[in-house]
Amino acid sequence: MVHRNPHLAKLASGYLFPEINRRKREFLVHHPEAKIISLGIGNTTEPLSPHIAHALAYAAQHLATREGYSGYGDEQGLPALREKIAHVLYKGSINPDEVFISDGAKCDLGRLQLLFGCQATIAVQDPTYPVYVDGSVLIGATGHSTDHGFKGVVYMPCTPENNFFPNLTTLPRTDLIYFCSPNNPTGAVATKKQLEQLVAFAKQNKSIIIFDAAYSEYIEEPTLPKSIYEIDGAREVAIEVSSFSKLIGFTGVRLGWCVVPQTLCYDDGTPVAKDWNRIVTTIFNGASNIAQHGGLAALDHQGQEEMKATIAYTKKNARIIRSALLELGFDAYGGINSPYIWAKRLGKTEKSWDIFNELLETSHVVTTPGSGFGPSGEGFLRFSAFGHREDVEEAVQRLQQTLR
Ligand SMILES: *Cc1c(COP(=O)(O)O)cnc(C)c1O
Repeated sequence: MVHRNPHLAKLASGYLFPEINRRKREFLVHHPEAKIISLGIGNTTEPLSPHIAHALAYAAQHLATREGYSGYGDEQGLPALREKIAHVLYKGSINPDEVFISDGAKCDLGRLQLLFGCQATIAVQDPTYPVYVDGSVLIGATGHSTDHGFKGVVYMPCTPENNFFPNLTTLPRTDLIYFCSPNNPTGAVATKKQLEQLVAFAKQNKSIIIFDAAYSEYIEEPTLPKSIYEIDGAREVAIEVSSFSKLIGFTGVRLGWCVVPQTLCYDDGTPVAKDWNRIVTTIFNGASNIAQHGGLAALDHQGQEEMKATIAYTKKNARIIRSALLELGFDAYGGINSPYIWAKRLGKTEKSWDIFNELLETSHVVTTPGSGFGPSGEGFLRFSAFGHREDVEEAVQRLQQTLR
């Protein structure tokens, strides 16, 4: 018989969404007539814009011609797309050859671990998007699990008390620091000053920041950085991962990228980009050429207008949810420069799963329990603004009827 990879047994967080679904199903057994509305899942719901859909269809049809056919392309991505990303989204603060196109940020986050191996120590925000820890678990970099998480992982509490930014003065050194802004799940966006502190901290400790900017285009306040490379010195200490998933609804189409600056090196002086190039050419082979043409269309003038319209739609949902929660006596964070609202009932100490159950039973509204994202999420719920407007409005009305 073959031994199971022992690290697989340590994965814990696969539990959250299955458990939500289990509770939902169980509720439906007893209330088969209930129409449940989910404000729980971070998945996109609105149709692709016509311009982008047309580019995808055109690219597919072009492949059916002798002149238009192409097989394997550059593993790093279409040169035109790398260039467009560097110019349109990064305004030239990075070079096109530092952009590596991928099949999505999550996939990149999994592969990035290969750069640092099982000896790497890691720090994550608490609460956190689960992939950072799970990817490290799979490669064996986290040590064994304890009651409070993994021994080899430093959890950086991010709560209202510290404005969702970790207290860096009390943190031990780690090789990697995962940082997500705008944050999933809290909706918090780090200020320029905070990111300057983070970059200085990484520099001083000779750590590498893995900056997840999947929601950067949700930022509307011009003073808030959309990329870690807006911070001086970040090119020496940071990799940035990002994605078209939440920008243009490519969650199913699959297209993302990561930026590995030429100036980022290991302690022995080897450029990290050299190894990343090797990994991408060895076990990835490049993103779908059809998807990449969709990405190109998203970055031209019309595509950008349409992208902004889709994001504005989602953010209007976020504001509707946010203001209803505030009015209903919740402490609500995020939802302005982010599609997520992180909320807790004022003046109560209750468990996330208890409020989850209450909202499910009284309003037939599904949310995500904050405790599923880490110990500092206990007591909170994450509300997601991805959804059709009429569903969001109905969910909010039900909450107003039952909680008021
Ligand atoms: C949705 C999301 C991503 C995007 O993942 P893809 O694999 O590109 O779809 C990345 N990071 C965070 C924090 C997310 O919420």
